[in-house]
Amino acid sequence: MSELKVVAVDGPAGAGKSTISKLVAGRLGYTYIDTGAMYRAVALKVLESKLPLEDEEIMIAARDVDIDLRNEDGVNKTYLDGRDVSTEIRTLEVSRSVSKVAAVGFVRERLTELQRSMAKRGGVIMDGRDIGTVVLPDADVKIFLTASVAERARRRYDELKAKGLDVELGSIERDIAARDKLDSEREIAPLKQADDAILIDSTSMTIEEVADKMIELINRG
Ligand code: C5P
Repeated sequence: MSELKVVAVDGPAGAGKSTISKLVAGRLGYTYIDTGAMYRAVALKVLESKLPLEDEEIMIAARDVDIDLRNEDGVNKTYLDGRDVSTEIRTLEVSRSVSKVAAVGFVRERLTELQRSMAKRGGVIMDGRDIGTVVLPDADVKIFLTASVAERARRRYDELKAKGLDVELGSIERDIAARDKLDSEREIAPLKQADDAILIDSTSMTIEEVADKMIELINRG
């Protein structure tokens, strides 16, 4: 059996990081770690606290947060303080507040520490915004997955439509662009391609093509 690697996958919102990472992890028998889900869970906790979305209040709400990622019969679940919040963390409200919460240093320190301990055993694919640059700078393989804003918005639109939601393409595109801006311009651990990361632009690639490319890079890395 080949040696177990640590794989970092970063990129902007809607680039297909989680879909592809999950698929590749399944094929290689690796553990998939969705760090965006962890930031979303903290954002949900802040929203539920009803405190204003300001740095000080975010710190208070997030102070003793307990986040856990579990794989239950092949399905990835996110737990917040012992409660399964896998569905709640995907709402529009959470998507619109998460970048504000993720910009707070205290929150990032807590989650970075947790993410590093999760990657220790190897055989993991971790996706996020700062995995190759900050969380796992020594990862064996680093991938920066991107696609045009229009394509990322279209994919998200199709996904939400398929779930029966009444959504508008223009509004999704605006939300994605706003989140990218906040994530790329924040002071601490901004979204950025690591110098040693390999860029994959998936704009005109199928899921299968991107997955094959990623497996090739992991086997080589
Ligand atoms: O990956 P996903 O789109 O679910 O991430 C939600 C948000 O969490 C991002 O827009 C970003 O603000 C934050 N995030 C982060 N660092 C990570 C993963 C996610 O700041 N490693």
